[in-house]
Amino acid sequence: MTRKSVAGLLAGLAGAAILAACFAPFVYHEVVFGWLGHAPELQPKPAGPVAGRWFDDYYLVEQLDEGTYAIGEPRYYQGNYSYLILGTERAVLFDAGTGFRDITPVVRSLTSLPVTVIPSHLHFDHVGALGKIDRTALIDLPTLRARAPDGFLALQRYEFLGFTDRLLSPRFRVDDWLAADARLDLGGRVLSLWSTPGHTPSSVSLYDADRRQLFAGDYLYPGELYAFTPGASLGAYRRTAALLLSRIDPQTTVYTAHMADPPAPVRAPAMQVEDLRALAATLEAIEHGTVSGEGFFPRRYPVRGVLTLATAFPWNNR
Ligand SMILES: [Zn+2]
Repeated sequence: MTRKSVAGLLAGLAGAAILAACFAPFVYHEVVFGWLGHAPELQPKPAGPVAGRWFDDYYLVEQLDEGTYAIGEPRYYQGNYSYLILGTERAVLFDAGTGFRDITPVVRSLTSLPVTVIPSHLHFDHVGALGKIDRTALIDLPTLRARAPDGFLALQRYEFLGFTDRLLSPRFRVDDWLAADARLDLGGRVLSLWSTPGHTPSSVSLYDADRRQLFAGDYLYPGELYAFTPGASLGAYRRTAALLLSRIDPQTTVYTAHMADPPAPVRAPAMQVEDLRALAATLEAIEHGTVSGEGFFPRRYPVRGVLTLATAFPWNNR
């Protein structure tokens, strides 16, 4: 090798490293999940006790109170939970299942009311039944609405991230566009829809003030929070924490979308306002550089108990 070709090789490697650092969330997901990943397999039934009753050999239905059901998928590797929220006139399904199995029969077994499906966000493991049950509603963000001039929305590669599970991006009809802070009257029960970005730009939460229930999707859950995926933002995470803490009752139960890993019991992943406060404190500490994380990419910060926060590089994660 000549001196010139060595210099060329080194320059090429340096260029590739800079590009990889610039696009780290994309490169990481393509390599770790895209190249090395594979289609998910059905996990064995949990060995220990579970909360709720089996609907079939896959879905677990847990009644949280009169008119609120958690629908779990403990045999899907990510342990997702969706929530069916009933009024007297209509119902909301918050998150549409993973699509690993059809969630429609479970929903139909629990209510005959018209159901509006609202995804907490548009990652592949939350949108299974979008467009398949009565109505599908999304938050009315100009960036989303502009992509659906004919009423149909096709999810983008890094919005859906379905290549992780070897899934093709879906396209579905959006029946209702809901303004941020919309009041959803289900009949005898009112939900507020809030824009709660951080995990993704279009993430939303639902709040039932009377019952002191917050349905938070992937903003919070008992495990490692993914703030390093494409579109995630620590600044948005921080602002959302402040917004939620300013709006919710301190006694609120936060229902989240992924159950805790074993040996935690299999049940709807409920968290407390204390967890949200701890997350807010960690986000502030990261912002002010008063806490150090572990690892290179993603970088992980402890929050509280099993709750940790995984972040990208500062320039990918503002
Ligand atoms: Zn997600």
